Amino acid sequence: MGNDRYDAIVVGAGPAGSAAAMTMAKNNMSVLLIERGEYAGAKNVFGGSVYRQPIEILIPAFWEEAPLERPVVSDELWLMDNDSAVKIGFTGLKFAKPPYNKFTAIRAKFDRWLADKAVKAGTRLITNTLVKDLLYEKTGIFDRKVSGVILESGDRIYSDIVILAEGVSGNLVEKAGLREKITPDDLTLYVKEILELPSGKVEERFNLEKNEGASIGMVGYPSSGAIGKGAIFTNKDSLSIMVGAYLNQIIDKGLNPHLLLKRLKQHPMVKRLIEGAKTVEFQAHTIPKGGYEQIPQLSAPGVMVTGDAAIMISGRRGTDLAMLTGMFAGEIAAQAKAAQDFSGEMLASYDRKVKNSFFMKDIAAGKGAKKYYELHPDADFLLSKAANDAAYDYFTVDLLSFNIKLEKIMGELKNMQPLPKTASDLYHGYLHWGVF
Ligand SMILES: Cc1cc2nc3c(=O)[nH]c(=O)nc-3n(C[C@H](O)[C@H](O)[C@H](O)COP(=O)(O)OP(=O)(O)OC[C@H]3O[C@@H](n4cnc5c(N)ncnc54)[C@H](O)[C@@H]3O)c2cc1C
Repeated sequence: MGNDRYDAIVVGAGPAGSAAAMTMAKNNMSVLLIERGEYAGAKNVFGGSVYRQPIEILIPAFWEEAPLERPVVSDELWLMDNDSAVKIGFTGLKFAKPPYNKFTAIRAKFDRWLADKAVKAGTRLITNTLVKDLLYEKTGIFDRKVSGVILESGDRIYSDIVILAEGVSGNLVEKAGLREKITPDDLTLYVKEILELPSGKVEERFNLEKNEGASIGMVGYPSSGAIGKGAIFTNKDSLSIMVGAYLNQIIDKGLNPHLLLKRLKQHPMVKRLIEGAKTVEFQAHTIPKGGYEQIPQLSAPGVMVTGDAAIMISGRRGTDLAMLTGMFAGEIAAQAKAAQDFSGEMLASYDRKVKNSFFMKDIAAGKGAKKYYELHPDADFLLSKAANDAAYDYFTVDLLSFNIKLEKIMGELKNMQPLPKTASDLYHGYLHWGVF
């Protein structure tokens, strides 16, 4: 490997890295994609679902060949209390047919397939290889440019451009001085279990036809008073169930994520969905939830940052923003190569492209959410409790007139907390849950 040289090196073969590599390879660049896992996807975890639109740009009609689980037709959000749930949802059967909307997936299969597509487009992929640091070359008395990577083995590989797609850890982004060290306040921690269940049972329990999938987001009860979520996704013949919350709140409240998962599985409304299902695998992963304020400098001479490493998370959208930023970085790299200009000024067009994107507007709308939840860590819990108490009152058939009943419900809501605070919790919840 000693003196290898490429047009571009991409660190990390998740959705961001593979999308960047494929974009550059399609533009006739020589590309090396480096992954520390045994294979692409080996270390990657999500809920979850992948979304059609960014993948389709790279690979039209990808659903005909990609290892996907089920097209999602039914999306629900449950505001949960101990023995009840207020359910908000939508079922759209158009989503069961091409071109579909989103698909449940298992990342170990999906990422491997995507990286293989990058290889077929001309990328060289090496796995089981950790990038330890970046290489620099001097471009002036005080100026320098990233000029390659140093592997754990000590080998040096040179390139005109390095794209960092290393995910939430962002070690190299920090080493390059583009991002401050990430702290527990900026992360959510999730634990996930994959439970095997025959496909017929999946369909019966979630009211689905053979080639249909469902996704249920859950707030309130699952995270036991911390700001977080639970979720269940239907795969072909298994279920993915997960729960998590802000890491600092998990620590402060002394919560044990594995016990949270056990507790969620015992909830009477969840228990009936997973009854008889067998544990296949446990996983855990963090999500960078620092939001808009934590977005790093996205480029510097010779380097661009994509995906989770760049905190590109909006609600439950992450894989698509990773792929889009990967593609953007790949496109700018191709322009830089054509112009033989890898300067900070040239690569800053990547920053502008990201900053002018639709998703940056959404990320910006969530500005301050982290701060809000630091001040009000019980917001989701109170909202869910209020919604369920009100629903119990509303649905109880009693001897009160409708107006008196409404007055009673409003009185109870006001007793719990001032109504403007409830409205504010709801607004922040809407931005944060990102379930639909
Ligand atoms: C519990 C959970 C549920 C989620 N649910 C959803 C969902 O339903 N939908 C959705 O769109 N998103 C979801 N997300 C977010 C989504 O998973 C991420 O946004 C997405 O994976 C980011 O992609 P990435 O390529 O930037 O990073 P990653 O997927 O993390 O990939 C980074 C890759 O870099 C490799 N790597 C890291 N450091 C090095 C190094 N030094 N050298 C070599 N290789 C390295 C890693 O092994 C990894 O393969 C969820 C996340 C979690 C944790």
